[in-house]
Amino acid sequence: MSFSELGLLPELVAAVEAKGYTTPSPIQARAIPAVLEGRDVLGGAQTGTGKTAAFSLPMLQILSEAEFNGQNKRPRALVLAPTRELAAQVHQSIVDYGQHVNIRSFVIFGGVGSQPQINALRRGLDIVVATPGRLLDLCQRGEMKLSNIEMLVLDEADRMLDMGFINDIKKILQLMPAKRQNLFFSATYTKEVKKLADSMLHNAVEAEVAARNATADRVDQEAYSVAQNAKPQFLAEMIEQWEWTQVLVFSRTKHGANKLAKYLDKQGISAMAIHGNKSQSARENALSMFKSNEIRVMVATDIAARGLDIADLPHVVNYELPNIPEDYVHRIGRTGRAGKAGNAVSLVSDVEEGYLWDIEKTMKKNIPLFKIDERGEKVAMPRPATRSKKSRPAPGQQNRGGGGRAGGGRSQGGGRSQGGGRSGGGRPQGGGRSGGGRSQGGGSSSGGRTQGGLSGSSQGAAPSRSRGRNQ
Ligand code: AMP
Repeated sequence: MSFSELGLLPELVAAVEAKGYTTPSPIQARAIPAVLEGRDVLGGAQTGTGKTAAFSLPMLQILSEAEFNGQNKRPRALVLAPTRELAAQVHQSIVDYGQHVNIRSFVIFGGVGSQPQINALRRGLDIVVATPGRLLDLCQRGEMKLSNIEMLVLDEADRMLDMGFINDIKKILQLMPAKRQNLFFSATYTKEVKKLADSMLHNAVEAEVAARNATADRVDQEAYSVAQNAKPQFLAEMIEQWEWTQVLVFSRTKHGANKLAKYLDKQGISAMAIHGNKSQSARENALSMFKSNEIRVMVATDIAARGLDIADLPHVVNYELPNIPEDYVHRIGRTGRAGKAGNAVSLVSDVEEGYLWDIEKTMKKNIPLFKIDERGEKVAMPRPATRSKKSRPAPGQQNRGGGGRAGGGRSQGGGRSQGGGRSGGGRPQGGGRSGGGRSQGGGSSSGGRTQGGLSGSSQGAAPSRSRGRNQ
């Protein structure tokens, strides 16, 4: 199937071809014809599936084919996105895809001056991509009128609800005509998400990619049992010894993200933090340095990382596990995008194990859990038939003390390696992890070298060796 077979204008087909896309992704194949027919669409798709083009291309087509009323300066299409980063990225895609059609668009979000946004609105726009807060602000100030909106896209609706935008969204919906085309995208479907979708959509075509709450199969996932206080060193060694050149690390808190970025930098691993307390320009700067490989590591909180589109991102690390399983799905969805292989490693302290089981349950998939034993070997942790439910720490209340580092080598916190006392102990993995020695993240920008050193006992597992790391 080709893009032109989906009924797209030659101008739009040329633009996607210029981006190097040859075949529509599944969500594009399903959603584009439905949107062109004027249908509402419920898209169950996470980032990385090509959902932005799935709604942007037909939107550009519908707007450019409609008879243009020269008097009309008010936007006819609105895309709502949860974060500034996602809004900026979606807008950039619209600009790229729309380069051969005559459509005016602009992106509106908070954290930056509103005057350029007001000026653009006054000049006249067809498409506005916006985060809910600033949009509502401009509406309330009379600068933005939604009375001509014919198409509404809610992108990453689940995250918008997680971020507490429900009331803003309801207010925004009140300001636009009831008769309009609605496109609703969400990676996960909680009761609240479903309720919102039901209230907005009419006879929607469902375009779903992969099972809901399921992770892209192409992401290779594994977890290591590591004491919280040993994680910085473990991570630094992992990055160095596995020669990762580009890794996105998720931290639970803003403070933790700053601290970790500083630590890695001190170890000679260039790193920057990205989170909600950083100014928009600092966030954009970090992102562009990360994308251009000027820095090796970006440490991000969930919200800041939302919607980041980094082509070929080979590695994602969960420095702390999220307590909401869906966040895990979103996080690892940063890698393995656009059909590429990806690699996600989670560092799991003793008290976080319960989160891991919850994530597995949600994903209906086992995530192999390892520890690095005293000899530096990668050892599979046994999976008890009945897992005792560990008590869940409140977010941010990670166990800071106790437990040594998972690997052998020098212990930072003293004490035994985590989980070593579990019934059955660890089973040495021999020459490779189950499934054989893997090639790291497939097409990784580090050159996709084989991770032989990871599980081969002779070379020692990467994170287990502390030699010379912290001098
Ligand atoms: P999205 O899910 O919209 O965030 O898109 C994920 C990534 O896939 C982006 O880098 C897009 O540029 C890319 N992409 C989107 N559609 C296609 C396609 N049909 N073929 C190849 N890459 C694509």
